[in-house]
Amino acid sequence: MLRFAPLEDLGLSVAAMSEKSDGNCAHADARRRVCEAAGASYERLTLLKQVHGDCVLPANASHGGEAAAREGDGLVTDEAARPVGVLVADCVPVYLFDPVKCAGGIVHAGRAGTYSRIAQRAVRALERNYGVLARDLHGFIGPSAGPCCYEVSVELAQAFEERGLPARQRHLDLWEANVLQLEGGGVPRSQIALAGICTICDTRFHSHRRKPDGGRNLALLAL
Ligand SMILES: [Zn+2]
Repeated sequence: MLRFAPLEDLGLSVAAMSEKSDGNCAHADARRRVCEAAGASYERLTLLKQVHGDCVLPANASHGGEAAAREGDGLVTDEAARPVGVLVADCVPVYLFDPVKCAGGIVHAGRAGTYSRIAQRAVRALERNYGVLARDLHGFIGPSAGPCCYEVSVELAQAFEERGLPARQRHLDLWEANVLQLEGGGVPRSQIALAGICTICDTRFHSHRRKPDGGRNLALLAL
């Protein structure tokens, strides 16, 4: 498991992502082990049925537990004992934390989610639900498909460019796209950090592009 100091140093209990060596987090037993190792409550872990959409939902007591998973691709919370997570294999996990209001969120921003600006929606959801000010937010772009490897069709790359999202020929830069969206949402650029790790060429992680075997990494955030 990788821990992300740029957020944990600000007081966030857990900002982490599992590695292949932690098992396949598509399965509950692996998720439980990762939560325990991170010091987060597996019983209270809130996940979603991810649908590559743009819906960001609040995680709270009435929605806890894996069995109650709702459809969506982003979670926000201000409850200390309520870890939130998304499952990824090349899709971008975006972590958000406001140390002032002590609220945070996590987003599953794949190609579709990035295209529909889900990271910016998460900023709005934090403002709306918890009175967070975007200027107080810190963002982190977790390990995911990097601009080095993420190639799509010419048509798709053009569609991204037309939307003002970074693309070079057939390569999409989902990292920079999400940085720009957070910035556009009011998060200062100086408060946005990148893991800079590409899951397609870094074999420590499950990668759908490299090996589509259903393996998933758990991106985990706990206040
Ligand atoms: Zn790469």
